Amino acid sequence: MGGLAEHVAAVRAALPAGVELLYAMKANPDPAILRTLAPYLTGFEVASGGELRHLAEALPGTVPAAFGGPGKTDSELDAGLATGVRRFHVESTTELRRLALLATARGTVADVLLRVNLPFAAEGAALVMGGRPGPFGMSAEQARECVDLGLPGVRVRGVHAHLGSGLAAPAAADLARAVVGWAVGELDAAEVNVGGGMAVDYADPTARFDWPGYGAALGDLLAEFPGRVLRIEPGRALTVYCGWYVTEVLDVKRSGDEWFVVVVGGTHHLRTPAAKQHSQPFRVRSRARWSPPYPRPVTGSGPLTIVGQLCTPKDVLARVPDAAALPAPGRIAVGDTIVFGMAGAYAWNISHRDFLLHDPPLFRYDRPEH
Ligand SMILES: *Cc1c(COP(=O)(O)O)cnc(C)c1O
Repeated sequence: MGGLAEHVAAVRAALPAGVELLYAMKANPDPAILRTLAPYLTGFEVASGGELRHLAEALPGTVPAAFGGPGKTDSELDAGLATGVRRFHVESTTELRRLALLATARGTVADVLLRVNLPFAAEGAALVMGGRPGPFGMSAEQARECVDLGLPGVRVRGVHAHLGSGLAAPAAADLARAVVGWAVGELDAAEVNVGGGMAVDYADPTARFDWPGYGAALGDLLAEFPGRVLRIEPGRALTVYCGWYVTEVLDVKRSGDEWFVVVVGGTHHLRTPAAKQHSQPFRVRSRARWSPPYPRPVTGSGPLTIVGQLCTPKDVLARVPDAAALPAPGRIAVGDTIVFGMAGAYAWNISHRDFLLHDPPLFRYDRPEH
């Protein structure tokens, strides 16, 4: 976990002191990861009653949580009140009314940020969560209505927006500026959470989001709107680099002009490439020794697809246009190890792990040497 702690420490150091850093735990809720991140965070963004319970188990004591997510049930909201959730990210007028009733019944007041779907284009976003009709959050008019209602049991402190994911730093900074300007100008928001969605590049595992550039832009915003609290809640960009999925080549075969490499495991362990329709970055480690009494199958030239053990053509982990152009050792043979990188976010925890009832992967917590 050394790499993860170093990475989050650098992210924290790149942000102005006035910016609060939450971790969106849906990216990877592994307890060891939560504990490694915690010292560098203001708190966690949870998006379900299950995540709330999980956080309390992984980090006993009062861990500051912001409770977001579309579709929170009354029992989830009430659990949030019972466990002292710091902020509720409310998604609609109706949810605000339900929360107000529950809080009043408990004789407490819930601190709320209104999740707004603002008409700002998230330039270059991979996943657009706002700026057009959608299930997340409320319109600007509905947000004003929530404030005007003046309900007992809730205190509207400001605005929450998460309008896209896969944003490079300049686009994320522009979006933050637009959101904060609107929130302060229209609702006199004391707090603004501008969300997560900081870009990671699966095609270039060495690339990093420009945290210093983004931090400087947030610093400018704090100077422009003094006295306001600014908060961000990245998920993927914090943990994706700290996980590897290590597997072994079970078979190599030729079909037509193409090569297929079958590995132990598949997208039931690492669903990321299926979910994002990309090639998961990987490295090959050759196994030198070969003892079976038959020839060792090995790739040649031509298109190559790395697949898993599932009985579906969608179980694809990576594609390479020409196997002859593979980085060293330049080929893949049965018995080799394949190390998939960038498996620390939206990987095992989003995988359809019960499909075909294969064994789960083993987990190791250390710093692989490769
Ligand atoms: C998923 C999500 C995040 C984190 O997104 P990343 O792309 O992992 O940074 C943050 N906030 C909300 C509301 C989300 O739904």
